[in-house]
Amino acid sequence: MFFKDIYGNTAVKHHLVRMVEDNRLSHAILFSGQEGDAKLQLAIAFAAYLNCENPHDGDACGKCPSCIQMEKLSHPELHFIFPIAGSVKKSSEPSSSDYIEEWRDFITKTDGLGTLSDWYDSIGVTTGQGIINANDCNNIIRTLSYTSYQSKYKVVIMWMIERLFHAAAPKLLKILEEPPEDTLFILISEDRSAILDTILSRTQTLSIPAFTANDVSSYLQARFNIPAEEAAKFAEFSDGNAAMAVNMVLSPESNSNFFDEFIQWMRICLQADMLKILPFVDDFSKNNREKVLMFLRSSLSLLRQALYLNTTGKMSIPIPESQMATFTKFAQFVSPSNITIFNTAINQTIYRIERNGLIPLLMTNLTINLCRAFKKK
Ligand SMILES: [Zn+2]
Repeated sequence: MFFKDIYGNTAVKHHLVRMVEDNRLSHAILFSGQEGDAKLQLAIAFAAYLNCENPHDGDACGKCPSCIQMEKLSHPELHFIFPIAGSVKKSSEPSSSDYIEEWRDFITKTDGLGTLSDWYDSIGVTTGQGIINANDCNNIIRTLSYTSYQSKYKVVIMWMIERLFHAAAPKLLKILEEPPEDTLFILISEDRSAILDTILSRTQTLSIPAFTANDVSSYLQARFNIPAEEAAKFAEFSDGNAAMAVNMVLSPESNSNFFDEFIQWMRICLQADMLKILPFVDDFSKNNREKVLMFLRSSLSLLRQALYLNTTGKMSIPIPESQMATFTKFAQFVSPSNITIFNTAINQTIYRIERNGLIPLLMTNLTINLCRAFKKK
């Protein structure tokens, strides 16, 4: 993956290239952004640029031996660390390198846009959460101590650094404090506030913007060869989250499952039926944390679309014909005054769930708050 393969993000690409040209490259950069943006793509393209033998016009050449290895994600000085779960592969001391094949496959299949939930699915983590463990930090110290003969930079990409296990933090801090020469750490995060201050203070933060709707739309057209009009609808609904847009194109049936669950939830809220809240929440809480977060984000989009439909009479999302009548009926309950309450309540719940809040408790509170908000219509 090279800069030319990444949609939009022109300012970030320029910024990265300028850092190298002006000799201002620090040894640790935090790429901070949100789900479905270009963080990981940019990190990989930057690693390729740094090690290219003939970079020109603000990008790697794509042809030299280094670029060829970078493209296959098999460059000997490109190192990846990412969250894993120990119980999946029967190793007493699992590390990212045990999953490197799955990881390369994951990046290739998702163009580097996959979500944490997609990653867990691809390595069979169904319950609990993955972590970046201490073994990885030990391994990287060892690996970086070998002299590099063939490349300009050793690049360590640490994906979802907020998943760093707390006991592993001192090891990472030690490397960031005394970095080996010609080594660049790119830490990638979707939740900067969950990163230890001591780590933040040793890195330079680069904010990665979400894709624009145009970027997502162009990407979908190129990847799936779908009509521009259809791509634009998915792009708008996904709100710059390319991963969500891709999932919508690939599995329309899972969207409609999501949709059914959303409508079921909204019915309970509208009826303020206390007897139904607990069974719904109980059942819903069996989903893993990432799925719950995805559901809540989709619900926010659907609520916004309901307001749009209610006020303009138009739809901008791809909802199957069979669900239109239900959605139209529901939309009349969403108004400019209650949408603000929905937004705040759902976003706060997302924030707390991301910080390991108890899902059943938070979902119960949220549902009760939404019941009240509907009454304020
Ligand atoms: Zn090259």
